[in-house]
Amino acid sequence: MEKYDVVVIGSGPGGYVSAIRCAQLGLKTAIVEKYNTLGGTCLNVGCIPSKALLDSSEHFKTALHDFDKHGIDINTPKVNLPKMMTRKEEVISQTCDGVQYLMEKNKIKVYHGMGSFVDKNTISINGEKNDKIYGDNIIIATGSKPNFFPGMEPDKKRIITSTEALSLKEVPKHLIVIGGGVIGLELGSVYGRLGSQVTVVEFQDGLLPTMDKTLGKELMKILKKEGFKFLFNHAVQKVNSTKDGVQLDVKNKKGEIISVEGDYCLVAVGRKAYTEKLGLENIGLETDKAGRVITNDHLQTSVKNVYAIGDVVKGAMLAHKAEEEGVFVAELIANQKPHIDYNLVPGVVYTWPEVAAVGKTEQELKESNVDFKVGQFPIRALGRARASMDIQGLIKIISDATTDEVLGVHMIAPRAADLIMEAVVAMEYRASAEDIARICHPHPTYSEAVKEAALAATESRPLHI
Ligand code: FAD
Ligand code: NAD
Repeated sequence: MEKYDVVVIGSGPGGYVSAIRCAQLGLKTAIVEKYNTLGGTCLNVGCIPSKALLDSSEHFKTALHDFDKHGIDINTPKVNLPKMMTRKEEVISQTCDGVQYLMEKNKIKVYHGMGSFVDKNTISINGEKNDKIYGDNIIIATGSKPNFFPGMEPDKKRIITSTEALSLKEVPKHLIVIGGGVIGLELGSVYGRLGSQVTVVEFQDGLLPTMDKTLGKELMKILKKEGFKFLFNHAVQKVNSTKDGVQLDVKNKKGEIISVEGDYCLVAVGRKAYTEKLGLENIGLETDKAGRVITNDHLQTSVKNVYAIGDVVKGAMLAHKAEEEGVFVAELIANQKPHIDYNLVPGVVYTWPEVAAVGKTEQELKESNVDFKVGQFPIRALGRARASMDIQGLIKIISDATTDEVLGVHMIAPRAADLIMEAVVAMEYRASAEDIARICHPHPTYSEAVKEAALAATESRPLHI
């Protein structure tokens, strides 16, 4: 039996990054992946393909609606969905090949097959070859799968999850999305831009319920202008497949059942940790109520040499959170003293404009009785925004009422996914709003809105409004 210092199960952003860091630290490392390609949900059916389609559909929308305003005459553009999907597939395979290359470069042995615990050090691999390998340390990085509730079971044809939505063969006429969270709004945006009517059925009273309320409200206004329809406070009771579509029974706030019909229904009500066939019972590991592997603050399970990271454990289901945890565990195994500040894990929604946030929301600060100040600046007041005709959104900075330390930054803006990093760096160094306000920002850029919001938070003294 081949012996390793570390065996990683799962090759998503948590697993493959952890394997690289282990190898960098001189640990003999193997990674086990049940699929033929490496990269997990993120590279194969998550972050990367969704961003490829978001970019393609945004180009289409710009060509259709905005080229004319820029003084560019073109024939009316048409969607070539098969070609768009082929480009997406190419992006996926290049990115997955990149991970394969990184495994080879770092001399990490890759096993393809379903990994399962025989005992706390032995993993059997049920694949083309039935291997058994030994690991001094095992890292569980088996990720997550789409969740659904009774009555909305995906048939993967008309009632679909994000995985099928990333490979549809036609643009739906009417896409019904259950869940106004990240997946619903990103994939709803893709098909909305390509011509679908999109209706979002959401259980709660607004979009992105876990983010600062300002963001959900602002994004709702923007998406409504794009043609999205929203049914808030509506609970889906049953989704039925019809001959060429779907029919939903939905309970409204008054308790009445209404019928909503479309040709596809995307179920996007969250994801659940994936531990099937992992053999956790063979080493006495239990999962919590949500099915997640239970770990302590060091991401260590109750079996000392077994760790778990990423979507399969508690916390935000984000690729960069999984990566940080992968590095954390590798360094811990190598007897270092790593640290993760979960408060500073940024969250992004890749609509257009993008939504991004880090730190505490206004609601959270109110709940914990913290006195704070808020500075807000609209994107439309920027010269850069007018030049680019990208004027929607705002930046909101929340700082401590007494010390002015930045406690949370929430934004909707073009390229907010990149802009948020200024806030993350500032907060990592415990900057005050005034620290950000006194930094020279290049003109004309969207980053000037960060400075202006910081000026607004410091002493209500933005310069350009
Ligand atoms: P995963 O990426 O799920 O990888 C787990 C791997 O383990 C899989 O390859 C699986 O096949 C393998 N595996 C499972 N069990 C076994 C076993 N027993 N043996 C062998 N292999 C096994 N996050 C972001 O931060 N940004 C985004 O833009 C973003 N977009 C997303 C878009 C969509 C449509 C979806 C669905 C998700 C998106 N996410 C995004 C979330 C992100 O994909 C996940 O948070 C991330 O992939 C989690 O990484 P992970 O390594 O924990 O698990
Ligand atoms: P989510 O938790 O973001 O949103 C689910 C939404 O569904 C919530 O608004 C919730 O109120 C609603 N909901 C739940 N049950 C419902 C019901 N019965 N009827 C109607 N609405 C209901 O989950 P998601 O959008 O499925 O995404 C799953 C995970 O994937 C998230 O944790 C997210 O972090 C990750 N992800 C991240 C990105 C990104 O970082 N850009 C992109 C896609 C996915």
